[in-house]
Amino acid sequence: MAEPVAKTASGGLERAREVLSHFFGYRSFRPAQERVVQDLMAGRDTVAIMPTGAGKSICFQIPALLSPQVTIVISPLISLMKDQVDSLTGQGVPATFINSTLENSEVEARFAAVARGCCRILYVAPERLENPWFQSLASRLSIGFVAVDEAHCLSQWGHDFRPSYREIAPFVRMLSRRPVIGAFTATATPEVREDIIRLLELSSPAVHISGFDRPNLFFDVRRGEDKDHFVREYTAAHSGESGIIYAATRKKVDAVYEALRQTGIPVGHYHAGLSDEERRKMQEDFLYDRRPVMVATNAFGMGIDKSNVRYVIHYNMPKNLEAYYQEAGRAGRDGEPSECILLYAAGDIRTQEFLISLSTEDEERKANNLALLRKMIDYCRTPFCLRRFILRYFGDSAVPERCENCSNCKNNTDLIDVTVDAQKVLSCVYRMGQQFGRMMVAHVLRGVENDRIRANRFHELSTFGLFRGRKQKEVMLLIDRLLALDCLELSGDRYTVLRLNEMSAAILKGQTTVLLPAPKKEKRRRPMDSGLFESLRACRTRLAVRDHIPPYMVFSDATLRDMCILRPQTLSDMRRVKGIGEYKLNRYGQDFLDALRDAFDAPDMAGE
Ligand code: ADP
Repeated sequence: MAEPVAKTASGGLERAREVLSHFFGYRSFRPAQERVVQDLMAGRDTVAIMPTGAGKSICFQIPALLSPQVTIVISPLISLMKDQVDSLTGQGVPATFINSTLENSEVEARFAAVARGCCRILYVAPERLENPWFQSLASRLSIGFVAVDEAHCLSQWGHDFRPSYREIAPFVRMLSRRPVIGAFTATATPEVREDIIRLLELSSPAVHISGFDRPNLFFDVRRGEDKDHFVREYTAAHSGESGIIYAATRKKVDAVYEALRQTGIPVGHYHAGLSDEERRKMQEDFLYDRRPVMVATNAFGMGIDKSNVRYVIHYNMPKNLEAYYQEAGRAGRDGEPSECILLYAAGDIRTQEFLISLSTEDEERKANNLALLRKMIDYCRTPFCLRRFILRYFGDSAVPERCENCSNCKNNTDLIDVTVDAQKVLSCVYRMGQQFGRMMVAHVLRGVENDRIRANRFHELSTFGLFRGRKQKEVMLLIDRLLALDCLELSGDRYTVLRLNEMSAAILKGQTTVLLPAPKKEKRRRPMDSGLFESLRACRTRLAVRDHIPPYMVFSDATLRDMCILRPQTLSDMRRVKGIGEYKLNRYGQDFLDALRDAFDAPDMAGE
């Protein structure tokens, strides 16, 4: 075993708690954090698998702060590294980073600061580790701890394989004394975990796997929804909040972005088709809340630590649940209630199947990817608890039947019976020979007489005109909803046609009823815009602009909310608010006390 990271075995945890409170403003560790911190401080290699938002960074930052030696943090992205270092220095923790954007002289200066002990946490990108110059500088430091962030990048089974992560083990071997190694990730699969242990050459590591639940996230699947309408309504109902909307293609991203822009929502977009400069600007505008809503492909998000993302909407179904949970998990990192909404349409299945068939992977991987896609589809279609589905997928065994915090647990009450309409649709599909797509079937049901319909003599069918008077969009939506519930299916190679399946037969025979959630108006999740919260938010924005940092780095939404509850009147009251350490107290405490006082002096707040 390597030397303890911090030689404070007895009472070590108490000291760790003091440091936690002093710098980060939290009174206690979360249980999973405490176990990881304890093992690392005792000098044991450790693998920590914790979901997004569980507080991984603190698990290596605290042992690093307590260690007399240098800690190297390996981080995959330049933006992520800069964010974390900015956030640490913003809390008074001396930390620095080295990456390819810096001049050699600056790199040397930073190394010198580390060697002098002015700063003991050094973030580096993995590519650096194979650079001989970097190696010679590093070999002169006394490195006690190497923390590998996003450790799943080591594994080609993971979703973000980075070959340069394989340089970590040779780098560690080169050091004169073996440091303790900690590996951190949110990816849970056993293959990834084994790869991490083997490729980092960990010696009998402690492996901590925390539960994957994110209780503050509300999971919602909307089947066959009018997606454009939903996105417009939702973003309008939650204006002022920050959210991400993921779509499958660049074209779709641009279309949704344009549509929202025209409604006056401050929105950004992000995909691989934009220039580096445009992407950088969009990302920055999002982080600084200048454009709090982002429409993006899955190219956006890794390394986005923005804690106040209140919703993540998937305009299209992603390729598997790992990708979904990771992307959706970017909501609510601050622990505040947030929503993860997936807009499911049966057409998304074909898009994903098509992408898998086009990929260059071997047949075994393709079959594996198709199996993962099936699970994703099952998630979209299940009538049972969504959270339970996800947690069981990730291997959590003791999960209650119902969470009461997902759309399936909540929506069961207001269902409407659409069996008769469903029978009309299915019967029409049958009579048209199962050779036509949604649009044509909807035309026949609505009684549209055009050349194509007459040529096929569909105007003579008994189902012709059964939905006369209804709008085309409404009938198409009904068909989409039936598809989403598997009441019929899409098939065909060249043209997508509607086909009946076993469920259709049961519906036509009257053996099954079809229930759909009643349409409902988008409501605001909760009154985020209470006067006091808004005043504090305005104060935060002002300070963020003054200090050139994103607002969430001043204080998180969770901290502002705690401030609304505790309503501190003095600086020492302020210190009791969650997330306010000594440094931030000195820097921002008085400004927020003033903002609180002003808010209470305002006439409409009196008596609150
Ligand atoms: P992860 O890297 O695991 O996604 P972060 O390190 O970004 O998570 O932490 C998520 C949020 O939880 C941050 O806002 C962080 O400040 C907060 N947090 C971390 N540890 C604690 C704690 N012990 N008590 C309260 N909040 C915490």
